[in-house]
Amino acid sequence: MSVTGEAARRDVTGAFEALYGTAPQGVWAAPGRVNLIGEYTDFNDGFVMPLALPHTAVAAVSRRDDGLLRLHSADVEGGVVLDVAALAPLRGDLGWAAYPAGVVWALRAAGHPVTGADIHLASTVPTGAGLSSSAALEVVCALALNDLFGLGLSRPELAVLAQRAENAFVGVPCGVMDQMASACAIEGHALFLDTRDLSYRQVPFDLAAQGLRLLVVDTRVKHALGDGAYAERRAGCEAGARALGVRSLREVPYVQLPESLARLSEESVRRYVRHVVSDNHRVERTIALLDAVDAAAVGPVLTEGHASLRDDLRVSCAELDLVVEAANAAGALGARMTGGGFGGSAIVLVTEERAESVAAAVEKAFAGAGFAAPGIFPAVPSAGARRV
Ligand code: ADP
Ligand code: MG
Repeated sequence: MSVTGEAARRDVTGAFEALYGTAPQGVWAAPGRVNLIGEYTDFNDGFVMPLALPHTAVAAVSRRDDGLLRLHSADVEGGVVLDVAALAPLRGDLGWAAYPAGVVWALRAAGHPVTGADIHLASTVPTGAGLSSSAALEVVCALALNDLFGLGLSRPELAVLAQRAENAFVGVPCGVMDQMASACAIEGHALFLDTRDLSYRQVPFDLAAQGLRLLVVDTRVKHALGDGAYAERRAGCEAGARALGVRSLREVPYVQLPESLARLSEESVRRYVRHVVSDNHRVERTIALLDAVDAAAVGPVLTEGHASLRDDLRVSCAELDLVVEAANAAGALGARMTGGGFGGSAIVLVTEERAESVAAAVEKAFAGAGFAAPGIFPAVPSAGARRV
């Protein structure tokens, strides 16, 4: 089993000094995440349950007071120098720098006096794998600037500003789950988040103590379909809520699902509503099982969630379906796609004894199907953003 992206942590302090000629005032880290359960629920005011990965974006940062924002990433050639007062959303030409620049813009737009910074970033979060390398970048910058400028913002406030950066500045219509996970997660726990009011609870998720492992399988594919499909599902969910006379699908109780579905005329909207309402319920079932220290029983809930994403929401793909099928056939407790779908990653819950053979079975199935070899690594519930 390989640990994707866990190459030795780069020396961001040394790189910062080489670039900017002085030592950074501090170094911060923020993790990527996987979502255990609750998918496409965060734009319906619903429940999600992500956990932070050991993979992090790390930033060496010093504040500046002359209005300049200088950005480098160890993973990208060249740097960017920007005037903070001239930052404008949706420029389109900033590339990766739009994520950190967007955070500075969002902080300033909210009235916080961020007067510039030197930032050098490096990340071990695989990009574009559905593991939120983008949220890790945003949150690490938000936390660093919060500390250096003494802004006193809470973790949820930083997450919301980071989301705002991605939505309004970069132009990606993501929910708030990724940023909340990166900002608020703690080691050994999953984060049960109610996206209606951002209240959350840390749910103990000590896999090792229960003889279990959660594998992340990065399919290494990203099908182009994704962007339009996300907007279409979102619009469909909003249409469903309107037709049912509720503010969001979160307001539809699971017990009222059959009668609610009977009131919907559009076939696709019916499927989307069934997915969202049942996935919210799956989050609640998962919490009950984790509270009862019965994580193994979460397996079938994951597989049920996958079927719902595949058949009702229709956001899966051949590679993700194959992970779930091959893992379960090889004796996994359960599996599902995680994140937005159309590629990206899946998760597999498995006993420690079977972890190696299930991973091997997934690799073999991919080879047999002519797919590129997946990246497989254990998701150890890790700490959220912090100063290091
Ligand atoms: P995900 O968040 O699932 O990894 P996204 O497409 O949302 O995928 O975000 C990936 C983008 O984030 C990259 O294309 C790049 O612009 C930016 N990014 C992530 N990590 C880094 C990094 N280490 N250095 C520079 N940019 C990065
Ligand atoms: Mg992202």
